[in-house]
Amino acid sequence: MINICKGTKDILPKDSYKWDIVRDQARLLAKKYNLKEISTPVFESTDLFVRSDGESSDIVNKEMYTFLDKGGRSITLKPEGTAGVVRSYIENGFGNDILPVKLYYITPCYRYEKPQAGRLREHHQFGVEIFGANSLASDIEVLSIAIDFYRSFGIDPLVRLNFLGCDECKSNYKQVLKNFVEPHLPQMCDDCHVRFQTNPLRLLDCKSTVCQDILKNAPSITDNLCDNCKHKFNDIIKMLTSLNIKYELDTKLVRGLDYYTDLVFEFWDSDLSLGKNALGGGGRYDKLVSELGGKPTPVIGFGIGIERLLGYLEAKNIELKDETRVDVYVASNTEDENYVIRFVNSLRKKGFNVDSDLLNRSLKSQFKYADKIKAKYVLVIGDDEINENKISIKNMETGEQIKIWSNDVAEYLKQNV
Ligand SMILES: [Zn+2]
Ligand SMILES: [Zn+2]
Repeated sequence: MINICKGTKDILPKDSYKWDIVRDQARLLAKKYNLKEISTPVFESTDLFVRSDGESSDIVNKEMYTFLDKGGRSITLKPEGTAGVVRSYIENGFGNDILPVKLYYITPCYRYEKPQAGRLREHHQFGVEIFGANSLASDIEVLSIAIDFYRSFGIDPLVRLNFLGCDECKSNYKQVLKNFVEPHLPQMCDDCHVRFQTNPLRLLDCKSTVCQDILKNAPSITDNLCDNCKHKFNDIIKMLTSLNIKYELDTKLVRGLDYYTDLVFEFWDSDLSLGKNALGGGGRYDKLVSELGGKPTPVIGFGIGIERLLGYLEAKNIELKDETRVDVYVASNTEDENYVIRFVNSLRKKGFNVDSDLLNRSLKSQFKYADKIKAKYVLVIGDDEINENKISIKNMETGEQIKIWSNDVAEYLKQNV
């Protein structure tokens, strides 16, 4: 027997309704906020991710599924949703249309991670990107979409945020941080030695407890912002307060990717009791479009892990209701299969969800099956019924049973289903 690959999961039939609910909710919100869906391929040129996610990022260094195709091209399965969307934005000239361009996607992502505690090698994300706006309103809109999404499932997440500032702020702070870290560098991990050289901001990201201990007292980026950035950040905070969005400043938050500027954020369970994984996150990346060859265009977006959301709901005992059900099971006890099949089809054409016997089972086991699939009504067609032009109908909830003209069945069901 061949088993499923490590770190991957089947979405089983019993759980697929949950995925429908999540996708429906994402699409409903997208309509409310006037976002259009974009789907990009599962694989792209490796360069795209190296250039957008950053050579020093963990994703690029350790986690990408990269291979040579038969034409000798280096291909990578998308590790996150943003890079492909930005590539498509540039390639298709979306920026020549009226701005902003507001997009969302639902996509699988692939990362070669240690399969443990809520981390999968294939997971799915609901993501949003708004191109062409760098305003308080666009920051707040993106945060609101994510908050509305979580709230629709009964979750009120805590937004942990940080402000990385403009280019000048970022590069000033990099120096401030390097000056602070330098005397401690010999005690720090190998990764941090590399980060010190290539992307010092990511020192703050280090998971090693030794490094974290050293960085506890590091100067924070929000204390080193220029006046303009300070104002921007204060305006965001004020707006969050007035919108009753719970937030917390986390000056160590830089997110794993190199491309962020200004606002970065993550969504967390407000009591932080369920593990150490954020439910989702994102931020602003105003340099990415131009770095990938497009016109300079501000962008802000987020990605929300769907598996993580579902796992979280389960841990919190928040149940998603399965509203899909079979209206009618057609049980038959006759040689006239043609009659039965035509009858079943006519009900489906009229809009009912209908199942029927495919195994030539006894009436008794057909009823058992109907019970198991929770059919609301069972219709019985036997030779008597066919001769009389009638159908027996059993309401499976009340046990009530009647016989009516077969021509009246659809009308009866319409009134009762
Ligand atoms: Zn600044
Ligand atoms: Zn370290």
